[in-house]
Amino acid sequence: MNSKIKKPKIVWLQAITCNGNTHSLLSANANRLKLFLDSFDLVYHPSLTTDILLDDLLEKEEEIDFLLVEGAITSNKEFFQISDQTTSEVLKKLVLKSKYLIAVGSCASYGGVHKKFEQNSDIFGLEEALDKKDISSLVHPIVNLTGCPVHPEWILQTLFSLKEYKQMPLDEKGRPKEIYSYLAHHGCTRNEYFEWKVEAKSFGLKEGCLFYGQGCRGPMTHSNCNKILWNDVNTKTRAGMPCIGCTEFDFPRNNMLETKKNIGIPDEVPLGVSKRAYLSLAGVAKTFKIDRLNEKIIK
Ligand code: SF4
Ligand code: SF4
Repeated sequence: MNSKIKKPKIVWLQAITCNGNTHSLLSANANRLKLFLDSFDLVYHPSLTTDILLDDLLEKEEEIDFLLVEGAITSNKEFFQISDQTTSEVLKKLVLKSKYLIAVGSCASYGGVHKKFEQNSDIFGLEEALDKKDISSLVHPIVNLTGCPVHPEWILQTLFSLKEYKQMPLDEKGRPKEIYSYLAHHGCTRNEYFEWKVEAKSFGLKEGCLFYGQGCRGPMTHSNCNKILWNDVNTKTRAGMPCIGCTEFDFPRNNMLETKKNIGIPDEVPLGVSKRAYLSLAGVAKTFKIDRLNEKIIK
């Protein structure tokens, strides 16, 4: 391999964030993380690099290949600022030097918890924070990698795909279809319990499905969490905790750990399934009591 080939430059900006997506990146599979560091030039990350300061970066003429942004954006200086500038000002200056802009996590994508809970109406995700003129240098629509946090493999897969193929088909919410066309429900080890309507008695058990009482949003949430596992071994639902729909536009919602029902029927049924179809199937499934599914797996 020609070692003189220039690696694409990555700049990682942190706006209003808890750092969760940075932590997630650092928990990527070690071989994949090494491949990432060998294939890209991570020129700036506020807590992972030391060679260059953000101020220097803002003054430099140099082009950025991939600008990754973690956290929500505000133009309210009283609320949050970096180097005496608002996150909105810093973002706009960096975007004008960049080819690709990637929102890392739900806060950068849509505003996330900050937009929902802070007493400040001026908090946005990237798309809302930028005008057409701000994104004139981009060669691709903004990519939203939603998740709270985002799965590390989603970051790496997106970067490698854009590096190789220069484009990634996106869904109507700006998320890569390759990742977000699946539902968190796909591949969950509790699918059989879901089909036979066997409820989990509480969190953390091996048995039962969390859809009926614990608010699991796996059947309505676009993500491949149960296909590309977390830390290569597990997911929330496999471990016995409900999917809270962290990749969706309406995250975070209220009362996330309970299933809202009306006369015992869930208010929301699996995506694309009519309430009538759901009720018919659930009614039939409930009439059969499968002993195996109502027993402990390991006795
Ligand atoms: S626990 Fe959630 S993701 Fe798993 S089968 Fe039940 S509804 Fe689907
Ligand atoms: S299982 Fe659901 S809540 Fe958990 S990371 Fe995946 S999409 Fe988010």
